[in-house]
Amino acid sequence: MKLTDKVTEKFRTAESQRKALERLKIETIEDLLYHFPTRYGEKFDVVKIKNLVPKTGATVYGKIQKIDLKKTYHSKVAISEAIIEDDTGKIKAIWFNQPYIAKMFSPEDLVCVTGEIGETKSGNITINNPKIEKVDSIQVGSSDSLFSSEIDDDFLSPVYKESKGISSNWIYHTIQKIIKGSSGEENLFENLKDPIPEEILEKYHLPHLKTALIWIHSPRKERDALSARKRFAFEEIFYIQLKKQIQRQQAKKLDSYIISDAKESINDFIGRFPFQLTDSQQEAVDAILKDIQTPEPMSRLLEGDVGSGKTAVAASAVYAVTKTNPKDHKHGKLQTAYMVPTEILAKQHFENFVKYFEYTGVQIGLMTSSGCYKFPSKVSPTEATKISRAQLLKWIEDGQIPILIGTHSLIQKTVKFKNLALVIIDEQHRFGTEQRKKLAKKDNFAPHLLSMTATPIPRTLALTIYGDLDLTLIDQMPLGRKPVITDIVLKNEREKTYDNIRKEINNGRQAYVICPRIDEPDPDKQNTLNVKSVKTEAKYLQEKIFPEFKIGIIHGKMKPTEKDSVMKEFEDGKIDILVSTSVIEVGVNVPNATMIIIEGAERFGLAQLHQLRGRVIRSNHQAYCYIFTESNTQKTIDRLLALKTSKNGFELSEHDLQLRGSGELSGNKQWGISDLGMEAIKNIKMVEAARDEAGKLIKKEFKKKKPLDKYPTLQNKLKNKREIHFE
Ligand code: ADP
Ligand code: MG
Repeated sequence: MKLTDKVTEKFRTAESQRKALERLKIETIEDLLYHFPTRYGEKFDVVKIKNLVPKTGATVYGKIQKIDLKKTYHSKVAISEAIIEDDTGKIKAIWFNQPYIAKMFSPEDLVCVTGEIGETKSGNITINNPKIEKVDSIQVGSSDSLFSSEIDDDFLSPVYKESKGISSNWIYHTIQKIIKGSSGEENLFENLKDPIPEEILEKYHLPHLKTALIWIHSPRKERDALSARKRFAFEEIFYIQLKKQIQRQQAKKLDSYIISDAKESINDFIGRFPFQLTDSQQEAVDAILKDIQTPEPMSRLLEGDVGSGKTAVAASAVYAVTKTNPKDHKHGKLQTAYMVPTEILAKQHFENFVKYFEYTGVQIGLMTSSGCYKFPSKVSPTEATKISRAQLLKWIEDGQIPILIGTHSLIQKTVKFKNLALVIIDEQHRFGTEQRKKLAKKDNFAPHLLSMTATPIPRTLALTIYGDLDLTLIDQMPLGRKPVITDIVLKNEREKTYDNIRKEINNGRQAYVICPRIDEPDPDKQNTLNVKSVKTEAKYLQEKIFPEFKIGIIHGKMKPTEKDSVMKEFEDGKIDILVSTSVIEVGVNVPNATMIIIEGAERFGLAQLHQLRGRVIRSNHQAYCYIFTESNTQKTIDRLLALKTSKNGFELSEHDLQLRGSGELSGNKQWGISDLGMEAIKNIKMVEAARDEAGKLIKKEFKKKKPLDKYPTLQNKLKNKREIHFE
């Protein structure tokens, strides 16, 4: 047997089991070995059969007297049924849908069964779907609790994620078969090699692969299980870091344009902003300018809350690029591609850039699917002009237009740059890794890359998933901006809030109302959550609270054109209150909207609430954020109160991680890290260790002709690992 063998080829499986394995994403033997228990079942007392009590859990030692495979009368479900006896009595054990149990065990086998005790209508005691294990001996004659320590009952029973057709029990037994090996065949488990270098295991006191596999699948002690989990969590983060470090080393081999240090003229450019840069912004500009002065391609991520002023930082870098000429001086200017997630944002950025660059005479292009523009227009030098796409593409290709702003349409094949020196990606998590690479490959030249994000994630997570990027954090908001007044509003305090909103709207302001869902839940469906929906809430507000105002709605299921026109109406002040789901466009900038109500706030992570709040810090008017909660438990309220005290979104994302666990981080799934790996994210020491070790190893290895030659197992592992997706 090999790790890469298919489970279905090595173990007999029925169609339903094959489908279940597919759903569980278990294909190879290795996948199965790495399908870890999600938890360990309760440890039950060892009880003699005559003392068993229905509706309790128990562990019973005994001998199988009889074991058969049956089918239920109606639904033809397979049932394994055994009679187990000890020196005090007999009990029937029943397994539904697990025919293999009847095949694996035989009469006379000594076994230990653990599970829930049931009782049939006729009063017979049963044990249902118990975990079953062969044992070498059972103590005859010993009574229950007094001597139970003589029996080896110190066994935590693993509980695996199941899928219809594959039970936790089946997974357990199949894994145990792999670990124990079958006679006659070369023992896979015995020959397993650990991909993690020995020195690293020793340094961090991590168990070896074989030990760890035994400890995680059948631990004798809780401590062993924990130790194994720690090892596998480290392993996962270590692989991610290795891949990132390899990408980093490969990127370093490419060349980029050297952007000259035009310090004075950059200071002049920055000096013309209608505001002074914050220290944080200035530091970010300095870091970027330093990066792009070398031929090594920059890979930098700029993280900063919504409204922290990332655009001004980006514009300064763009300016530096436009001030540098290509070496041959023949082919126009060095170029920048600036990508943003939506057309609305592309237009907003274009307008801002026109203001920033107007005095320089530099040409700026805007490319969206609904039209292309160029600034300045030939006839009117202070205005932009609409041009054809073909014309814009031509000017980009011959290098005449140095700055191109647009959505992901910028990475289409038809867009060719003459001298692409810098790529800026705003809210990069909206773009796939592949797309990023495609853009970077353009022109057969590696441009410098500046990624920007306002998505607040904890530092450990950032260090992991952006392991190939240098991080700069803008942790300061522009001066003079009044902090948002945040209120936690309980159910009976809403009237006051509505009054305040009415007053502000009458002063000319606008408001958002965020609801957790679009439609009312289907009342026939069980378990549908009783949370507010956009449509009903908008109707309610219009009829009962704000009949005098214009209320609009926007949500993800609307057509892009519908969304655009609603946004336009809101921007133009024709809509007073916009009711929306939490997915309203990232970074939408409507400075006049200074109030936001978030309904059902207890359902959101703190970092997400903070991001929603970010929509109303776009101007110098006082902004308000009303956190509406249906819950009034102290714990929820305490958690929500962190919104009043935390300085920025990154701090709040740390709160989320510690308070609610990794599962609560918004978009956990999109990072491509397993739940186990996310446990590691809670531990800064572990993440740093994995990053350090991976960095050291790759740096050392990439100096050699054949990197990782001495680590064949690790190399294999990195090659075979399913591509990790981050977006
Ligand atoms: P984000 O980081 O969310 O992209 P923006 O770049 O859109 O933020 O900036 C938000 C607003 O703050 C813009 O209107 C911008 O002009 C303004 N701004 C940026 N930097 C400063 C600053 N240092 N002082 C005052 N206002 C600033
Ligand atoms: Mg922005």
